[in-house]
Amino acid sequence: MIVVSDIIELKNQITSWKRDGLSIGFSPTMGSLHAGHMDLVETSKKQTDKTVVSIFVNPTQFNDPKDFENYPINTNTDLKLCEEKGVDLVFLPDVKTMYPETKTPILLSIPELQKNLCGRTRPGHFEGVLQIVSKLFHLTEPTKAFFGLKDYQQFRVISAMVENLNFPLEIVGVPTKRESDGLAMSSRNVRLSEKHRETASLIPRMFALAKKTILGGERDIHLLKEILRDFLLTGVSLRIDYLEVVDPIDLQSKEKLSGEVLLALAVFVGEVRLIDNQIIPIPN
Ligand code: AMP
Repeated sequence: MIVVSDIIELKNQITSWKRDGLSIGFSPTMGSLHAGHMDLVETSKKQTDKTVVSIFVNPTQFNDPKDFENYPINTNTDLKLCEEKGVDLVFLPDVKTMYPETKTPILLSIPELQKNLCGRTRPGHFEGVLQIVSKLFHLTEPTKAFFGLKDYQQFRVISAMVENLNFPLEIVGVPTKRESDGLAMSSRNVRLSEKHRETASLIPRMFALAKKTILGGERDIHLLKEILRDFLLTGVSLRIDYLEVVDPIDLQSKEKLSGEVLLALAVFVGEVRLIDNQIIPIPN
């Protein structure tokens, strides 16, 4: 496995693979890798010739400096995992490499897709995501890039950027990998105390309750949200950042429970922010 921190070295390797006619699969990550990330790698290995992973905790997408400071870093374990899974190249840049002080920042934004969910409660987050992801796309020149559906809004925003700005690559969404109790795997889960980990298990149970309530005939979005909120708030130290029902394509708020809806939430359990979502088909 090749590990590079330098842009020139990265580009040389990519150019050489391209010259040989090989396709490149790319998954950007912030490290502290887990089985969810490895699903991206596995999907990439099945669909492309060379698999590239970047590990970079991107400062520009954190709206809360404390969250950035506390973000877990486990580079040695990450590299071992990547090697075991057969990743071909890991790009491990530092902040100066990605953001030289001499360069004037450019902000990309897709306001329509960012006005709800994390875009609403984390101002500047998606501008940071689009900034780093577009840079990484130019550096790695992927044929396909793989993103987890756990970060559903991110997946939609990046897909829209690629489509609108004609990036020459395909975005592939990978289903959310979950723990045995249904909690979505996340690098942030390691920061949960035992008590808070128990509270976090309310999240998958809330999705089960939502489906049961809808199957039971509830079609009033406000009542449904009230039932789900009350359920979540039984958890110790749980604070709801948002709980929203939106259209899965344009991410606009739904007025009626019909067709397909995206039920998405962000909660703080103690200090740790967790997100999850599910697309739920509404029976007629
Ligand atoms: P992160 O390191 O959290 O920025 O995530 C890097 C990539 O891994 C993103 O495309 C995430 O959506 C994806 N990812 C994170 N957690 C999971 C999971 N539990 N299942 C599938 N993909 C995930």
